[in-house]
Amino acid sequence: MTAHSPHAFKGANLDAARRDAAHFINGEFTQGATGKSWINRSPLDNSVIGNVPEGGKAEIDAAVRAAKAALHGPWGRMTVAERTDMLAAVADEINRRFDDFLAAECLDTGKPMSLASHIDIPRGAANFKMFADTVKGISTETFTMPTPDGKGALNYALRKPKGVIAVISPWNLPLLLMTWKVGPALACGNTVIVKPSEETPLTTTLLGEVMNKVGVPKGVYNVVHGLGPDSAGEYLTQHPLVNGITFTGETRTGEAIMAAAAKGVRPVSFELGGKNAGIVFADCDFDKALAGITRSVFENCGQVCLGTERVYVERPIFDRFVQALKAKAEGLKMGDPHAPGVTLGPLISAEHKAKVLSYYAKAREEGAVVVTGGGAASMGGALERGHWVQPTIWTGLPESSPIIREEIFGPCCHIQPFDTEEQVLAWANDTTYGLAASVWTTNLQRGHRMAAAVEAGLVWVNSWFLRDLRTPFGGAKQSGIGREGGVHSLEFYTELKNVCIKL
Ligand code: NAD
Repeated sequence: MTAHSPHAFKGANLDAARRDAAHFINGEFTQGATGKSWINRSPLDNSVIGNVPEGGKAEIDAAVRAAKAALHGPWGRMTVAERTDMLAAVADEINRRFDDFLAAECLDTGKPMSLASHIDIPRGAANFKMFADTVKGISTETFTMPTPDGKGALNYALRKPKGVIAVISPWNLPLLLMTWKVGPALACGNTVIVKPSEETPLTTTLLGEVMNKVGVPKGVYNVVHGLGPDSAGEYLTQHPLVNGITFTGETRTGEAIMAAAAKGVRPVSFELGGKNAGIVFADCDFDKALAGITRSVFENCGQVCLGTERVYVERPIFDRFVQALKAKAEGLKMGDPHAPGVTLGPLISAEHKAKVLSYYAKAREEGAVVVTGGGAASMGGALERGHWVQPTIWTGLPESSPIIREEIFGPCCHIQPFDTEEQVLAWANDTTYGLAASVWTTNLQRGHRMAAAVEAGLVWVNSWFLRDLRTPFGGAKQSGIGREGGVHSLEFYTELKNVCIKL
């Protein structure tokens, strides 16, 4: 059930999407009162998109208080049917304004329109629809119990909204990952304050227009822009009226947010970093494995938490696989999001490009064989000012190398040959992360065996990023806390209340 869109993107105009961002607090767009802002630039060519106001303590406080008040206003009084109808209307309105969302997302991230029109924007809409459908169908448990007077008692559970939810989201799939949290939070009757990534403020802001158009009550959905430490992100996690914090981003940021959440014992839901393994056995369907690994390494320019940066290939097909993946990498087309056939965009920022290139340099220092790529990409023209790097493949490094141990979050992978299932399993699990893995084999028993033994929240066998939104999504080890998706999201976004009635 990965969302696919029938939409063409001929009407999405990047230049028309250039605009200043605004906070969205209590149903109103505002620049806030800090007087501080930054310039949002496109990763494509470093051109100016617009200004983004930096929220401070006052903006966060206003947004949290609006969210708190909305819990007890019309939103809190709605029936589940009324609320979920409204969220279905939000999904419809995103689809109606599909090209506006598409242009804004591609301008902010630089990703190809062919990708965002199939994944980011349709999933943004689907997240509201799916969670609206999920909460309509939930039931809770009941227990009858004996009592000394013989009349007994009846217990039943009620699911209540948790309250005011802080949503802190990253830049790699901005609308998709933000609505993956806002959708279930609102479906369960909570109210939210979103602090989007400073790199990608546009679609979060645009969603404010959708909320007003559909008639979502004031204060239910709020947005405050800003940075992390000493800025809106940190102030939001510290606000005492916030009842829960849901965060997607780096593991190190998760540690800082967890420390903030400790004050007031606020619950957290975390989707964090990964260093995912793709394991290719000699008995795989070679072409399918190659296509899957190609996608998992290079899609979204490698800026996908579920992406593969460690590829393990069984020795009999190692050389052939390396050469075939090299050909695939060299066949990727980089360029402007509109341009026909473009499959690869730039990295998100100059800072991230510097980080990825530092790993490219480190790989060379460590003696890696650079199979392809290994440097910045020269694009020519205006794109020369953007944050482009070459798709890169290495071999020849030991498993102890930082290239194999640390999340790079770029269009690159290291390929290691392996000889036995035990060996590859030990390598795959020798990481502090535990988000995802893919296993490529035509041996059904081996597929099951590996899926059970790999220490990760998600394992794909003979596929990658094939998502049914009702399934549990999240990371093991340092890749996350909790699971979101379908009914699993209810565990975080609701409080179960037991009612005991003496009969
Ligand atoms: P990041 O951690 O740098 O930033 C994420 C968000 O946190 C941003 O909005 C940022 O402003 C905010 N932030 C930073 N410091 C903060 C603080 N101290 N308090 C409050 N907020 C703070 O992550 P990123 O670079 O935007 O995203 C890339 C990372 O996200 C990668 O590690 C990737 O693996 C991870 N990711 C994980 C998943 C998943 O589902 N597990 C999905 C996508 C991305």
